[in-house]
Amino acid sequence: MILLSVVGLETFYGASQALFGVALEVQEGEVVALMGRNGMGKTTTIRSILGLERPRAGTIHFDGRQITGMRPHRIARLGIGLVPEGRRCFPNLTVLENLVAAARPGDWTVPRIVDLFPRLGERRGQYASTLSGGEQQMLAIGRALMTNPRLLILDEATEGLAPVIRQDIWAAIRTLKGRGQSILVVDKTLSELLPVADRCFVLEKGATVFSGSPAALTAELQDRYLGV
Ligand code: ATP
Repeated sequence: MILLSVVGLETFYGASQALFGVALEVQEGEVVALMGRNGMGKTTTIRSILGLERPRAGTIHFDGRQITGMRPHRIARLGIGLVPEGRRCFPNLTVLENLVAAARPGDWTVPRIVDLFPRLGERRGQYASTLSGGEQQMLAIGRALMTNPRLLILDEATEGLAPVIRQDIWAAIRTLKGRGQSILVVDKTLSELLPVADRCFVLEKGATVFSGSPAALTAELQDRYLGV
């Protein structure tokens, strides 16, 4: 079943066009990689899906419903959980308070989040502002999961994190995939991203230039679209 379908998306910042016809699709239970060099439109695509930017053209369907132009809180409530670039937890709330504040009915509860990220259990009484970057990312993922989303979106899943923490984040993504969680993920670590992805979409200059399996994204295509 198609969970998310984006067709012909065009989004502007003022007079400047950032997206020129993005298309992508996430099937239920899939991990989908959204790729592309810096500034190619990944974050703008995600913000458009979430209703945080208003596309001028194109359609977005989620769970069979047209969500284009809907307000962000309504879209979130339909079941899309975002882990934004740069994390963003409430710094003056504790780990536990951050998790509880995000809670919506469903299978994901604080004990299950702590099971996924034991460090969050150890730090449950600490203010989010005192956590390391990696712990904040775990908390941001935990917060998004506490909303019990049908689709989890991670923008720059591991950017700027220490290598050992990155491993924990990738392990968590693999665990989530094993449980059937649908995920749309942006990350630059191809060696981790490609093995976990069921499908890849590559953006260049605000348009989708590749869609297919990780195997179909050959070294030559990686070099053309993702190489520095
Ligand atoms: P990165 O990996 O660097 O975050 P990205 O692929 O997510 O890149 P976007 O952040 O979506 O790319 O940027 C797409 C284009 O839109 C770029 O040309 C960028 O300069 C422009 N852009 C992004 N945010 C804004 C903004 N708030 N105002 C104006 N232009 C913007």
